[in-house]
Amino acid sequence: MAGIYIHIPFCKRKCHYCNFFSLASQKMKEPFLKALRIEMELTRDYLAGAEVNTVYFGGGTPSVFSPGEYLMTPPPGALPKKGGGETPPPNPLPKKGGGVVREVTLELNPEDVTESYVEELKDTWFNRFSLGVQSFADDDLTYLNRSHSAAQALRAVKLLQKTGYENISIDLIYGVPSSSGQLWKKNLEIAFSLDVPHISAYALTVEQRTPLAWMINKQRYAPVNDEDQISQFRQVMQMAKEHGFQQYEISNFSKPGRHSVHNTNYWNGIQYLGLGPSAHSYNGNSRRWNISNLTEYIASMEKGELKYEEEILSPAQKYNEYVMTSLRTMWGCSLEKIISHFGFRIADFFSQGASRFVKQGLLVELSGVYFLTDEGKLFADRIAGELFFLC
Ligand code: SF4
Repeated sequence: MAGIYIHIPFCKRKCHYCNFFSLASQKMKEPFLKALRIEMELTRDYLAGAEVNTVYFGGGTPSVFSPGEYLMTPPPGALPKKGGGETPPPNPLPKKGGGVVREVTLELNPEDVTESYVEELKDTWFNRFSLGVQSFADDDLTYLNRSHSAAQALRAVKLLQKTGYENISIDLIYGVPSSSGQLWKKNLEIAFSLDVPHISAYALTVEQRTPLAWMINKQRYAPVNDEDQISQFRQVMQMAKEHGFQQYEISNFSKPGRHSVHNTNYWNGIQYLGLGPSAHSYNGNSRRWNISNLTEYIASMEKGELKYEEEILSPAQKYNEYVMTSLRTMWGCSLEKIISHFGFRIADFFSQGASRFVKQGLLVELSGVYFLTDEGKLFADRIAGELFFLC
């Protein structure tokens, strides 16, 4: 099993909080697509023949390209033509009632979801849509410098649903200073009323060297209040439970069985290939990340050269990654797995550390598998950090 991530490095404008690699200018769209095709060819052996079961177009803003433009750029052998065609679905997974499961996600910005865009999507292989809503309150969207309105966000969800797409995820951001507890509750009520199977909720993080950090520093923008953020996180956990959603990862909630297969594969240590500038790849033994510079990315592809940095992971790094990612999920961190992959010495180290957190009510242990409690989810990074094996 394996995944492919494709990074689309363009946005209409930069959101104030964003530190992802993307450019507000779209001048280089055409050469980027050409470079992407070359990179697909150059990396075709990276996954060593593993079955690709998910493809994720993220960014940036993937919806700066029309569905038709994507149809001209399928990853070789990875995406079938809709309705059959010459390329058979690769690596089919068994599905209830027969057939195959293949998850092909496209991130969409709400303002791009027009009737004609959605109509064009019908000809593509995308079968899951992740909408960058962030908030259903215009004040929050202004604070974040998003390029859409709350009304456009609602319209986008309804338009996709009206067209027959129900596999929709909504991204939300909590802890925005313009949003009080009551406004955030209203936001959540709207999100859960939309009948989508998946909601992601991320804490607003003020990253260094972003316009948001600069404006908060200059006291032009209100700072993020940690207590508000914690109480809003508690609200989303509570409301998700009330609506029958599972918190299958700290920031991700879905109806049972409707989790993102692509992201879950990341957390389960499944290999993936990242394409596009700044995209990361993982093959089980090493991580590598492409250059975060579009001009250099295009120039290197034109020369037929891949330009990336790579880190070979030590056993301790692999253990640390396993602890960090597994603890964040509802499947938990398994002592048996630690023993079989990393040996008894590291397993002893883990269980001693974990038992401290069990006593504090931040972890629970069930048959050798450790899970964060709701309280523990507030301190997930600190807990994982204290369980890291440093050598
Ligand atoms: S749309 Fe996404 S990638 Fe683009 S600037 Fe905003 S947050 Fe960053």
